[in-house]
Amino acid sequence: MSKPCVGYFSPVYDGGMHLRALAIALVSYLEIRSAKGKWLIGFSDNDFPLLKKQTEQWLSVLEAYGFDWDNDIFEKTIYPINDDAVVNQWLNQGLAYACHCSEDQLKETQVYSGSCRDALMSTQDATIRLRTPDLIYQFTDRLQGVFKQNISKEIGDFVIRDKHGVIDPDLAMVLAIVRCGATQIIRPVEQLSTVVKQLYMQELLGVVSPTYLHVPTILNNQDNSSSLAALLALSERERVKLLIHLLEQLGQPVSVEQQNLTPKQLLLYASDHWCVELITKGH
Ligand SMILES: [Zn+2]
Repeated sequence: MSKPCVGYFSPVYDGGMHLRALAIALVSYLEIRSAKGKWLIGFSDNDFPLLKKQTEQWLSVLEAYGFDWDNDIFEKTIYPINDDAVVNQWLNQGLAYACHCSEDQLKETQVYSGSCRDALMSTQDATIRLRTPDLIYQFTDRLQGVFKQNISKEIGDFVIRDKHGVIDPDLAMVLAIVRCGATQIIRPVEQLSTVVKQLYMQELLGVVSPTYLHVPTILNNQDNSSSLAALLALSERERVKLLIHLLEQLGQPVSVEQQNLTPKQLLLYASDHWCVELITKGH
């Protein structure tokens, strides 16, 4: 028997691109539901009150647009170590180090030079960076194809916790994936270049990497700027029209006939007819 597929969607790191995030949620949800898998949503331990408020708004949006999920997002985490414990473990193992370079010093550099690598400086008020090996990491994105990068040359020793104690979103995501056992991750195409960071951290943690699928940009900027409140304020009919628009942009077979369905009925219809390959590849 094959392993059940588990999808994970975190609505909090959308950078204000709420409608685009809704489209990503749609792809993630329909991929999982069409395969009769579990769809989980959540946010990581290190989220701030503002993000928690946004998460609550997101839950209302997802509910209003017909989504349902298989977890209690406020449940205690089952993974025995938290984000800071992982950072401290890597510091103790010499895999991570303290960096005290100022923003001015880093301004001109695309890839961090590693100047604090062997300086053994105090971790107090320091940025913590992960040492990266001179290795090429490769994976096959389910929509974008093969992607590879030399992690030290193209990314460099990257920040896993900033000097204010904020955990890198990719580390937070890696740990969230481990906690919920997600087997597939769906994100916007702009995030394709951070997967290699995630692969390296998964390797250090000794966990199996999920599959990745990066969705091309399907909306223009004006569409993207809809606020969560505006998405919630739409009538049920308008919400269905918007979902149909998103499905059309994703290349899925929908027609005006589906306009009389409720959001929930529409998502059920869409999951029955879902074909991920129809999403046009592009950037
Ligand atoms: Zn430094």
